[in-house]
Amino acid sequence: MYNFSFHNPTRILFGQGQIAQIGDLIPAAARVLITFGGGSVVRFGILDEVKAALGERFCLEFGAIEPNPSYETLMPAVELIRRNNIDFLLAVGGGSVIDGTKYLAAAACWVGSDPWDILLDGGATVQKALPFGTVLTLPATGSEMNCGAVISRNVTRVALPAANGANAGVSLITKSQHDKLVFSSPRVYPQFSVLDPSKTYTLPAQQTANGIVDAYVHVLEQYLTFPVDAKVQDRFAEGVLLTLKEEGPRVLAEPENYDARANLMWAATMALNGLIGCGVPQDWATHMLGHEVTALHGLDHAQTLAVVLPSLLAAQRDAKRQKLLQYAARIWGLTEGDEQRRIDSAIACTRDFFESLGMKTRLSDYGIGSEALDALVAKLDQHGRYPLGERQDITLERSRAILAAAI
Ligand code: NAP
Ligand code: FE
Repeated sequence: MYNFSFHNPTRILFGQGQIAQIGDLIPAAARVLITFGGGSVVRFGILDEVKAALGERFCLEFGAIEPNPSYETLMPAVELIRRNNIDFLLAVGGGSVIDGTKYLAAAACWVGSDPWDILLDGGATVQKALPFGTVLTLPATGSEMNCGAVISRNVTRVALPAANGANAGVSLITKSQHDKLVFSSPRVYPQFSVLDPSKTYTLPAQQTANGIVDAYVHVLEQYLTFPVDAKVQDRFAEGVLLTLKEEGPRVLAEPENYDARANLMWAATMALNGLIGCGVPQDWATHMLGHEVTALHGLDHAQTLAVVLPSLLAAQRDAKRQKLLQYAARIWGLTEGDEQRRIDSAIACTRDFFESLGMKTRLSDYGIGSEALDALVAKLDQHGRYPLGERQDITLERSRAILAAAI
């Protein structure tokens, strides 16, 4: 096992009725900005419940944070925060609202010229962030208990040398960019997160399925690497995978089954709160390739993962051999026969599991073919975060092959 340091400061308030407690966790004199998405929390009464729990505090609202939250949407909220001396943020929604709120927390305190730099340097230079809490409505990302966020930018203004070559200045052009980048910083852990499973009853089946797949792939990115004899982490990871495998279909069949929703919700949080990733090699290549697919083609985050993962596992079967065999045995009960056959079967079972949740597992299912590969690989190249994978062996060429096989 590798050396590690583990500290997770997020308080979890789990269960029905817990929204009422948030008033005790936010200073009475706080000036609060409540952030939310396209309206589900308004429609289903969650926003009213949150406002009641905040009591007499000064409170503003910023809605319309879209799935895959964008810089363009978020920057007006940075202004709103500064103008009104907001000193506490409260995100009410899914991963997009929480990620967007992490960006707001850091951007509002940013002293440089353009907070987009936070994404360009991956968060390394975040010195300060506003405190915030979350009320989670969609179990999926783990963002409610981790310090990462993914932000998109649709249009970038690029400085170019003046056309005449003189050093008289620069001209700005607007360029369609479609970037989706990750940042992380220990300064953007939520102070608290409320996880009330009954608030997830209203999720459309597609979003529930997205959440199951996202959480499942989060576990695999940390578990299906090379073995370092980390028995506790492996068994925690397997516990989360088995829970997702059992409870996922149950939740889809019985959307108002509280226990199934509760198990799914806690599984998704445990999948990416740092615990199972302590002291083990981590991959994240499926996420990195998936982000480019979302940026250029607009698929939901989890849809991209369901497409990339089976193809990536097949391509990495030698590097991941030992753990793929362990995964085959412990999650899918595949213990007999030739090793290569067991690995093939484990990958096929994973694909079938995603399909059974209603997820497509091929790029061509979304009308994306080989004509898309050049642009996807060019984006990976532009972002310069390769080679990918726990062994840093997924080069641009191999990324292209993985995406090609995913068609
Ligand atoms: P999401 O984008 O936050 O939400 C998807 C949709 O679900 C929205 O349209 C939302 O509607 C709706 N919704 C949410 N809660 C609902 C409820 N209780 N009832 C009915 N509808 C509800 O989805 P997500 O999967 O949680 O987040 C995806 C984002 O997180 C992506 O950008 C992804 O890249 C990122 N991500 C982050 C991490 C991390 O560690 N930070 C990890 C993985 C992925 P409204 O907008 O109307 O509310
Ligand atoms: Fe994810």
